[in-house]
Amino acid sequence: MASHFNYPDPALQDELRKIANAIVTPGKGILAADESVSTMGKRLADIGLENTDENRRKYRQLLFTSDKNIGDYISGVILFHETVYQKTDDGIPFIELLKERGIIPGIKVDTGVVPLFGSEDECTTQGLDDLAKRCAQYKKDGCHFAKWRCVLKIKDHTPSYQACLENANVLARYASICQQNRIVPIVEPEVLPDGIHDLERAQKVTEVVLSFVYKALHDHNVFLEGTLLKPNMVTPGQSHPVKAAPEAIARATVTALSRNVPPAVPGITFLSGGQSEEEATVNLDAINKFEGKKPWALTFSYGRALQASVLRAWAGKDENVKQGQAELLKRAKANSEASLGKYVAGSVVGQAAEQGLFIKDHAY
Ligand code: 13P
Repeated sequence: MASHFNYPDPALQDELRKIANAIVTPGKGILAADESVSTMGKRLADIGLENTDENRRKYRQLLFTSDKNIGDYISGVILFHETVYQKTDDGIPFIELLKERGIIPGIKVDTGVVPLFGSEDECTTQGLDDLAKRCAQYKKDGCHFAKWRCVLKIKDHTPSYQACLENANVLARYASICQQNRIVPIVEPEVLPDGIHDLERAQKVTEVVLSFVYKALHDHNVFLEGTLLKPNMVTPGQSHPVKAAPEAIARATVTALSRNVPPAVPGITFLSGGQSEEEATVNLDAINKFEGKKPWALTFSYGRALQASVLRAWAGKDENVKQGQAELLKRAKANSEASLGKYVAGSVVGQAAEQGLFIKDHAY
């Protein structure tokens, strides 16, 4: 019978619930620093640096040795595999630096997207085969939450039923495997911003995608109180001629979420999806200011929109580390304010705050 299943035992429920709630403590959000080796290579190339282990380590060292009060704004950092095991110049493990700042380490566990056979350029995400083993090890090594990114594309005939069903199912399998290993899964079904579609179409697609995701999470007995959702904000396509106002984005986003995300989910941590730093902050602020049913914390889990100014200020030079860290702190504080609906647009100026960060068909 479909109604015969087991809830996780109370101790596991408690552990997962505590981790998820800690990540969405009011005024805090996530720094996504889990760029794969190749994606990090592109970021480093932008500032004229070679994609070496050492350059990636030095950059992450800059992020994680930031002033201790970064922990007032950042509750969790998503790491890439190699970073979990890297250390500072003085031999301090990065994981320890995060813990000292009251930040929970997390880990990206998907292994990237692959094409869906017979589809119109759609994809699914792989990495399930040895996931249980990897989760068990990461938990031992100090990671308490994970991320898995799926990608849906808006075109005339997509996303297809095949893509919606498959991506929802793989996210649910991932989430259940994480929970079995005492790791909180961040469920990320990203509807890409690529396209000429308008705001309404983006909202409808986001609604459909989320409805598939929560059906699958239920089918796989995922304990929702011990999960977080990492969705796209609902925006018009990048190539749509008209930009939407933050208030319109907020309305479309909150409406799509309220129709599909159960109140049992403690928090929603948005990706920035190619918005500029300032746009991502202003839109998060508008979402929190929007008056509507919002039974979850609404905060950030930004990659590009927390790091563009940092990279620009650092430019790969040792003498600029402090400036890079100052940029991170400023932007993290701005997003903290936005997560409380208290950001004043334009009040934080960063070295790359207005720079568009859109990347076509973005891979992570
Ligand atoms: P962006 O904020 O750069 O979109 O990335 C966040 C992320 O973690 C995507 O998986």
